[in-house]
Amino acid sequence: MRLRSERFETEILDPRREFAVTRTAVEVRWDPLTERTARLLPEGSVPPPVRHDFAALAESTRPGCPFCMDAIERETPRFPPAVSPAGRIRRGEAVLFPNLVGYAQWSSVSVYSPALHLLPLDEITPTLLADNLAAQVEFLQSVDERWPAVNANHLPPAGSSIFHPHLQGTASPLPTNAQRLLAELPPATVREYIALERDGDRHIGAGARVEWLASYAPAGVGEVRAFGPAVSAAELDVELLGELASGIVAVLRAYAELGFESFNFALTGPPLILRLVARAYFAPTGRSDVMWSERLHDEAATDLVPERLAALVRGRYV
Ligand SMILES: [Zn+2]
Repeated sequence: MRLRSERFETEILDPRREFAVTRTAVEVRWDPLTERTARLLPEGSVPPPVRHDFAALAESTRPGCPFCMDAIERETPRFPPAVSPAGRIRRGEAVLFPNLVGYAQWSSVSVYSPALHLLPLDEITPTLLADNLAAQVEFLQSVDERWPAVNANHLPPAGSSIFHPHLQGTASPLPTNAQRLLAELPPATVREYIALERDGDRHIGAGARVEWLASYAPAGVGEVRAFGPAVSAAELDVELLGELASGIVAVLRAYAELGFESFNFALTGPPLILRLVARAYFAPTGRSDVMWSERLHDEAATDLVPERLAALVRGRYV
């Protein structure tokens, strides 16, 4: 296995520099695991994410929110007794219930807390995350389907239709494209990839059983990957939950520092693999982080260099 990349230069007469000849580099990198390519642009090529007045957004979305304290019991669905005798699953402050939209055989939504309608990225704590993940694990164990996953779509830019922050679980008899691809990876290939990156600029850190890397050829802006043991998302023990929660918190704090307020993650397995990407909070004239390249050419184009991202997350990883 080797890390493959190719660089080329473009040339324009730049109106910002009195039409002087200006060359910029483009680097195409191949992901050693998926063989998908990514396009790295010089830093500052695309505008930074737009920051929002979150207090105002929270206040405007709070009335009528079905996930808040006074509504959650009345307005969220319950599971049949065979899945959950209580109808909903509670861990710490987290509350989990069925998703009204069935994306899989079984689909769940779990709020970090009915009291946390507003939860910026740098205020998500390891405890909030570990409890929320633990509720998802209990759900995935009760439904016992072949392809379990825990997913995040934090805020509307990431695909959430409800502002109140939450995770989503899916348990399906059929894999998604990514689940199929990752499950088919030979274990030796995954080990080789981690070994190749272990001492490099993209390595973030390693706990007892989970290793964290910035993706060499990111599938989206700021992609971070965590690799755990040969278990599914339904088989996380307390130790793994703790490791995942503290690593995710480190990544989210780096995203927040870079100006991102939204993210997606997917936790799948075996082998246990967590992939996170930052999402830009677009405004009416703000730029989405997804354009033709990501959506239709299956190739991320990003000016957030993985080595810079790894250094930022590493500083927050404990
Ligand atoms: Zn709410």
